[in-house]
This record gives sequence, C-alpha cells and structure tokens, in this order.
Amino acid sequence: MLDCAIIGGGPAGLTAGLYATRGGLENVVMFEKGLPGGQITQSSEIENYPGVVGDITGMDLMQPWPEQCMKFGLKHEMVEVKRVSKDGDTFKILRANGDIDEARSVIVCTGSVPRRAGFKGEDEFFGRGVSTCATCDGFFYKGKEVAVIGGGDTALEEALYLSKICTKVYLVHRRDKFRAAPNTVKRVENTPNIELILNSVPQEVYGDTMGVTGLKVKNRENGETTDLPVPGVFVFVGNNVNNEVLKQEDGSWLCELNDQGQVVVNLKMETSVEGLYAAGDLRIDAPKQVVCAAGDGATAAINAIGYVDEKFGN
Ligand SMILES: Cc1cc2nc3c(=O)[nH]c(=O)nc-3n(C[C@H](O)[C@H](O)[C@H](O)COP(=O)(O)OP(=O)(O)OC[C@H]3O[C@@H](n4cnc5c(N)ncnc54)[C@H](O)[C@@H]3O)c2cc1C
Repeated sequence: MLDCAIIGGGPAGLTAGLYATRGGLENVVMFEKGLPGGQITQSSEIENYPGVVGDITGMDLMQPWPEQCMKFGLKHEMVEVKRVSKDGDTFKILRANGDIDEARSVIVCTGSVPRRAGFKGEDEFFGRGVSTCATCDGFFYKGKEVAVIGGGDTALEEALYLSKICTKVYLVHRRDKFRAAPNTVKRVENTPNIELILNSVPQEVYGDTMGVTGLKVKNRENGETTDLPVPGVFVFVGNNVNNEVLKQEDGSWLCELNDQGQVVVNLKMETSVEGLYAAGDLRIDAPKQVVCAAGDGATAAINAIGYVDEKFGN
C-alpha cells in the first residue's frame, strides 16, 4: 500500500513528491506517463521563475527537479494512469495496462493543455512567436505590436495585460460580440491601444528562422484579408484540463469539478473527497505558472502528510 500516489510529474507533481518524501511519507510513487518536467519543457525561454537569472529553457529549468526528489525516496513509474477511484479508505490507481496500485492518499497533478485555434503555421511557430500565455511571454514583446486571438474572458483579460506592455494589441475575434463579462468588454473598448478586428479569423501566421513576422486574418463577411505585421500572436481559445483520471466507470466524477472541468479545491488543495488533493494547472483559479504549480504541490503534500498521519497513524 502506498502512503501517497502522485499522478503527473510536472512542477506540481515533482514538488509534491519532494515534500511528501522529505516530510516522512513512505512509499510515495509519482506516476508520469512521459519524462518528468511537464509542459514547461516545451518552452524555449523562462524568465519568471524566482531566483533563476539568465537565459534558461524550460527543459534546463526542470532538469534537476527529479534528481532532487529521488534523493529523498520518491519513486517514478513511467506509466499512464487511466483512473483513480476510492473504495472505503483506499484509493485504487488503475494503470493503462490494467494493473492496480493502492494508496492511502492521492495528489492529482495532471495539468492542462491550451487549445489550438487550428490556423496555418500555428504549430510550426508555437514557442517561437505563437504563445498561449501572456504572463509567460508578453514581456518578450515589450514595446512591440502583437495580435490576440479569442473573444472570451481570458482573451480579453490577456489583451488588457498585453496592452500595458505592448504598443498595440490587435484583438481578433470571429464574431461581432464578445463572450466576456460586460465590464471586461467595456475596459477593452476603452483601451486606446487595443484595436478590435471583429468577424475575422486567423488564416496564417508566417515568419522566418528567427520567428513570427506577421499574421494574415480574413474577414468572414466580405472575405477580405488583412496583414498584421506582428512578431507575437497570442491564442486564447480555451484550455482543456487533464481531468480524465477522475472519471469513474459509470461516467460520474470522483470529486467535485466546476463547469469547465477544473477540480474544486480549498486553500489546502483538498478536494471534496477525503485524502484526495489536486495541485497545479488542473485546479480551479490556477494562475497557470510554474511557481504557482510548485507551491500547490507543496501545499497538497504537507496536507496529505497530516491526513495520512492522523487517519492511519503513521
Ligand atoms: C510553451 C509554454 C510556455 C510556458 N511558459 C511559462 C513561463 O514562462 N512561466 C511560467 O511560470 N509558466 C509557463 N508555462 C506554464 C507552465 O508550464 C504550467 O503552468 C505548469 O507546467 C503547470 O504545472 P503542472 O504540474 O500543474 O502541470 P503540467 O506541467 O502540465 O504537468 C502535468 C504532467 O502530468 C502528466 N500526465 C497527464 N495525464 C497523465 C496521466 N493520465 N498519467 C500519467 N501522467 C499524466 C503529463 O505528462 C505532464 O507531465 C508555459 C507553458 C507552455 C506550454
């Protein structure tokens, strides 16, 4: 029986593993279907992890994390988890090959995946001018013009954030009305350096070996194409949280989720199920930053230690 099973080995899962093992839990396994590190390993540059100065890739940032955790006894299983369920006080971890592990506590850290809009060049230039995170990458476009794709709350909030850093933000939305909160829409409309490009869809992002140099957008009403000479394109068309492991055989969810599928937690990262914690990008209100995911992982582990001690008398 594991004291703690951690599902996912990004910043949240690795930090949970560090705190759980160093804090005294025995038999802690981190189930990560790929190499540990998480989605930040796709980033060519990270400038906002505290204490880390200079040019560093996401891969470089995450490289020492697993070694630090293993030193305190964290075990890594390179396994995809299909389902987490609970039977009495025991959690069951169903592996993709059908094997089942049992655990006293579980910390789910499976992260999220930003949705792509699907226009030409989007994948090719992802991380080289196409981004899904203004907090992460906005600073690289300080004093420059950028385009934002999307019409929901996130797209508008991020356009407002970028308008403080960039000289101009083209906000490209496929409809003539936004889906965001009326107050946010008003703030966007009153921001002089945000130009609305409505009823329009991105057609193609193009560039060279250095990165993006422009975006072509097509008006859906008259078919006209406009060329925006921007070095940065921010895509905010939704985010899928990796919550599938919480789906039960009968289609219900193991714990409470909100209407976007994010796991509802309190400030201890406790879910609605005793002994089950969620940390990082898949929880409600996640700022979707490495430092925040790591903080969540630490919080979840500290509380899992308390739960296991109290419940099972470790
Ligand atoms: C291109 C890019 C640039 C970014 N830049 C920055 C930045 O500059 N600064 C910043 O702070 N943040 C940045 N972020 C955001 C940051 O990467 C995330 O907020 C952070 O990684 C979230 O950590 P997490 O541990 O919650 O989830 P993730 O990092 O998503 O890790 C989840 C892990 O769970 C694993 N997993 C999922 N499902 C299963 C399963 N069923 N079984 C086993 N394993 C599973 C996945 O393989 C993955 O490794 C960036 C993200 C991207 C994509």
